[in-house]
This record gives sequence, structure tokens and C-alpha cells, in this order.
Amino acid sequence: MEYMEQFEKIIKEQTARVEAMKNDGGFIDYQALDTIKIGIIGGDGIGPAITKHAYKVLASLLEDEVKKGKVEFRIIDGLTIENRSAVQKAIPDDVLEEIKDCHVLLKGPTTTPRAGDKWGNVESANVAMRKALDLFANVRPVSIPEKGIDWTFFRENTECLYALGSQGVNINDDLAIDFRVITTPGTERIARLAFEYARANGKKRVTIVTKANIVKKTDGKFLNICKEVAKDYPEIEVDDWYIDIMTAKLVDEKRRNQFQVLILPNLYGDILTDEAAEFQGGVGTAGSSNIGKKYAMFEAVHGSAPRMVEEGRDKYADPCSVIRAGAMLLSHIGYQEQADKLYKALEECTVTEKKLVITGREDGATGDEFADYILSKITEA
Ligand code: NAD
Repeated sequence: MEYMEQFEKIIKEQTARVEAMKNDGGFIDYQALDTIKIGIIGGDGIGPAITKHAYKVLASLLEDEVKKGKVEFRIIDGLTIENRSAVQKAIPDDVLEEIKDCHVLLKGPTTTPRAGDKWGNVESANVAMRKALDLFANVRPVSIPEKGIDWTFFRENTECLYALGSQGVNINDDLAIDFRVITTPGTERIARLAFEYARANGKKRVTIVTKANIVKKTDGKFLNICKEVAKDYPEIEVDDWYIDIMTAKLVDEKRRNQFQVLILPNLYGDILTDEAAEFQGGVGTAGSSNIGKKYAMFEAVHGSAPRMVEEGRDKYADPCSVIRAGAMLLSHIGYQEQADKLYKALEECTVTEKKLVITGREDGATGDEFADYILSKITEA
């Protein structure tokens, strides 16, 4: 009867989680803070090389705010695989303290060891950070103006099949059962974030993606709660789709342009955002944000590219993805004007003007040169 105990334990933990969520207050108002502390985390591999460029760009855009004391940058060096491996922790305690002392973070990629390599079995720093800072929303914009695509995905990050992925039970040799959790406050907060985003950005439609016709309890709850939240946003049109047909519609050129903001439980969100990112293509084109009520973390979508460092090519790594993540950060903390300037400069440098090109090798521009190119466009504007 071990599995009955396991099930009971899960129910107790999740009930406590629901209560904690109900009492965790509202979203932080960054502009109401005396000083907004922005942590810059280099991470591993090419991370420090590209993140330093993003820092330079942000520091330039926020120069006046720093002078006024409204914004403060904190450099956090310790989130490296060497340090994490030495203490066998996903985030060493002292580094977590530094992180928690910031309000918002710009993070370079971090290496997650594979079974059998020299770092031991250290858990992913990203997963640990999402848990420690309760970053419940993974927000990913996918924009391809020439194809009329402008999607923003709101993937729930703390529930669904993944939250209990390691807590399933083998009832006997023939029978294995996993658990999936969806909660009312967990769904409410992601839905509200998505609708608020839609309202603030003039989006006309929000699409809820589930498989509620089959997975009746959990997806049923997710869909119902999203629809409840939608009532507070009468100017926004709401539709709901099943994940299977939604996956097909994203490749349907006649239909896909109708989607704008999409809300999804964790697993469907994971799959659909990977599919969507594939249309966009190129490591320099996307940023990703992980948002909670108290903290938010912004990062590149690519990894730490260890081979580039081994081959001495880190200076040729493309900094655009982490710089774009920086633009998302600016917008999140209330500096929309600066964010727009940066988006425009990125568009000019990577699409319309393209005076420099990054190839990841000697025949292309260095990250340093490219960051200066972006900065020159900002000052020119
Ligand atoms: P990767 O993204 O690091 O590399 C994939 C390919 O893209 C490689 O050929 C690499 O050289 C190239 N590339 C990546 N970023 C680039 C850039 N900015 N400029 C030019 N070329 C670039 O993926 P991977 O090899 O699967 O993962 C390497 C490590 O990164 C792993 O330890 C993985 O766990 C980690 N990772 C971290 C994150 C994160 O922190 N968010 C995300 C993905 C992977």
C-alpha cells in the first residue's frame, strides 16, 4: 500500500501549495519601488561573453535611471557549473541569496550536466530557479512580421504533468501511474497575466489551449477558470482550441495569423512553443521570460554552447537573443519606451539594415562589434 501513502503525500503537499498561492498577494509594482535591482547572471559557456553585451546595452538605455538611483545593477558571478558541482546544488545557497535580493534578473544560459559527465548529478539551475522564485509563467513571443505572425505564448510553469513528474508510482511490474495537477489559483494567475498583457498591448484575441473534452478534470478546470477570468476583459475575444488541432493550425498559413495571445498548461505549452520557435528560426531571434508575482527572470532561448568556448569562439557568439531578453525585461519593469528603442535597433541590425552579420566564427562579426552596432542605432534614433 506504499502507493496510497504516496498519493496522500501528494494531496497534502498540493493542498498546502494551493493555500500558499491564495495568500501570496498581488504582482509587484516595479515603478513603486525606490530602487529596482536588476541582477545580471553570466552563467556558463558563452553566457558571460554574451550577457556582458546585454548588460552594456541595458546600462546605456537606463543610464539616467541609474544616476537617479531608481535602478541598480547587481552582477552575480557565482551561478556557474563549477560552483554548483562543488556543492552539488542546482543553485548554491549564497548565490540564491544574491538572486533573491534582486527584483528582476537577466540570465545567461546555464549548463545542465548529463548522466556520466564530470559535474555529477546537479539539477537544472533553471528548474530550481523557477521553483525557488515561483516563476509560474513562461512567456515566449514569436514574431515573424513578413508572415503576419505575432504570437505570445503564456505557458504555465509550475503545474500539470511536469510538477509531479518524479512522483509517479509503480503499482506493480505491470502498472505505472503518474499524476497531473491543475489548481484554481495556479490557473487564475497565469490567465490573469495573459489577459492583462493582451489588454496592455492592444491584443484583440486570447486563445485557451487544452484537451478538456478528454482530460475532463484537470484540463476542464484550466479551461473553466480561464473563461471565468476572461469575463473581466469583455473587450477581448476569447476562443478555445484542443491541443491536437492547435498544433496543426500553427502550420496552416490561412488560419495561423488569427492567433495572438495563447494560454496553455505546462506540457502543451512546452510542445507548442518549440513548434512555434521553429518557424522563427535562428538562435538570435528569440528571448524568453519567466514571470512570477515577486520575481521575474529573462534569458536567451539557446544553451551555453560549450563547444564554442572550447574552440575559442565565444567572442563570436550571437548576443542578440539575450539582448532581446533584455528588451523584454525593460518592458516588464515599466520602461516601455526604452524597450521599443531596443526592439527597433534589433530589427534594423538583424533584419532591415544588417550591416554586420554574426556567423559564430571568424568570418563574422564579434559579439562586441555587434553590441556596438546595436548601441549606435539606439543613439542614432
Ligand atoms: P545550445 O543552444 O547550447 O547549442 C546548440 C547549437 O547552437 C550549437 O551548435 C551552438 O554552438 C549554437 N549556438 C547556441 N547559442 C549560440 C549563439 N548565441 N551564437 C552562436 N551559436 C550559438 O544547445 P545544447 O548544445 O543542446 O546545450 C548546451 C548546454 O546548454 C547544455 O548543458 C544544456 O543543458 C544547456 N541549456 C541551457 C539552457 C538555459 O540555460 N536556458 C537552455 C538550453 C540548453
